[in-house]
Amino acid sequence: MSSLSILKSLLAEVDDLENAFAMLEWDQATYMPSGSGESRAYQMATLQKIVHEKLTTDEVGHLLDDLNKEYAGVSIDDDDAALVRLTTRVYQRRTQIPARLVEETTRACSLAQEVWIKARAESNFAAFLPHLERIFDLKRQTAACFPGAQSVYDPLLDEFEAGGSAAQVRAMFEELKAAIVPLVQAIAARPPVSDEVLRRDYDEAQQMAVTSALIQQFGFDFNRGRQDKSAHPFCTSFGFDDVRVTTRTQRNYVVSCLMGSMHECGHALYDQGYPAQYFRTSLARGASLGVHESQSRLWENLVGRSRAFWDWYYPTFQAAFPATLRDVSLDNFYRALNRVQPSFIRVEADEVTYNLHILLRFEMEVALLDGSLAAKDAPEAWNAKFKAYFGLDVPDDRRGILQDTHWASGLIAYFPTYTIGNLLSVQLFEAATRANPAIPAGLARGEFAPLLAWLRTNVHQHGRKYLPGELIQRATGSPLSAKPYIAYLQQKYGALYGL
Ligand code: ZN
Repeated sequence: MSSLSILKSLLAEVDDLENAFAMLEWDQATYMPSGSGESRAYQMATLQKIVHEKLTTDEVGHLLDDLNKEYAGVSIDDDDAALVRLTTRVYQRRTQIPARLVEETTRACSLAQEVWIKARAESNFAAFLPHLERIFDLKRQTAACFPGAQSVYDPLLDEFEAGGSAAQVRAMFEELKAAIVPLVQAIAARPPVSDEVLRRDYDEAQQMAVTSALIQQFGFDFNRGRQDKSAHPFCTSFGFDDVRVTTRTQRNYVVSCLMGSMHECGHALYDQGYPAQYFRTSLARGASLGVHESQSRLWENLVGRSRAFWDWYYPTFQAAFPATLRDVSLDNFYRALNRVQPSFIRVEADEVTYNLHILLRFEMEVALLDGSLAAKDAPEAWNAKFKAYFGLDVPDDRRGILQDTHWASGLIAYFPTYTIGNLLSVQLFEAATRANPAIPAGLARGEFAPLLAWLRTNVHQHGRKYLPGELIQRATGSPLSAKPYIAYLQQKYGALYGL
């Protein structure tokens, strides 16, 4: 057997194990009985350990040495060359960090999770403080395993956004901040919009039925997927012939289910779109978290919050909730859905203010990592930034620094991928429209196939073959940029708020 076939059969098994892990995780979030957590934690840890062992043997190192010589001159457009590059990156990352540090981090995070849940509920930062200190310390040690890095942030970001850097993220946020802070202020000076129509009584079974029908029209393939309920919506896949989305329903807030379904469907369309030849390989994944988020944001916002889409969809939606929406015009519904309102909680934020929440977290992470901010002073720093960006006084840490699970889960340098996804969603939608100018008008007739076809060709079919920067350049003709996103916000919300 050639080195390549040996590597491929090993990676196929790793792919099986990872998909089995994902299934255990999905079950835990959907149907697992509440008393089964302990045995499930063992099962998942064991699978993870086997994957790690399989990927970090000396044999894999030797195979990769051979293959990197063999494929040295081969273009990355070649699937095998791409697989060798990707596996080499994964191998280097996994072997660079000592097993002791990985274990310590896993243990610290599982302890921190439990403490964080309670600390958030009680708004008790002091209880969480030692865990926050510990996790940032472990992450600093992790970053130190990559001595060539430009900054302590970069190796951490690289795990989620291959090739990304703090410098690039900082430049992106500087540009956004300069445009968005004044936009938020201008909107705040206009008469407020009510979202009362979204908070009426919406039958929950009906919410599930309409969103299932809608995502099917977007292109979600129910022969290779399901939609279920979970406390926090997510999308996962057990191979691209089995892609699961979850959503949640709130009887008195239809946005959770409606927009959550569209969002997760965007992720799912990506995962259902990898080419057949990537079956059981590590190329059957998204290019990065940021690129994955661009897909969810595109369907949620560029499609699902657009006027064209609601011109088509509102009569169907209104008919599904006749008693609730009888007296609500399309105009009022559309305005409520696009209401801009500075608020404390990131996951409830509108399109305009959302990225300010991420900017704040990025600045906090950088300062906590480089030591310019001590963890004990973090709530004060958080609240001061919040006041500066949103004009609001944070009432308690529950609605401030304790709101997100990320830091307690060890996900440091993860937040910027949300903003990368937002920026890229607009760049991709514009590139699709340049290639096929009929796409926006088609939304007003419920025609989504042309948009999906463009995404399939330019994004989905490449799976994880290209680094995110390479994929973005190929698909849009330019590098990642904040400019199209800023122009999109200014135009859309300028019109909505009469600026
Ligand atoms: Zn998402």
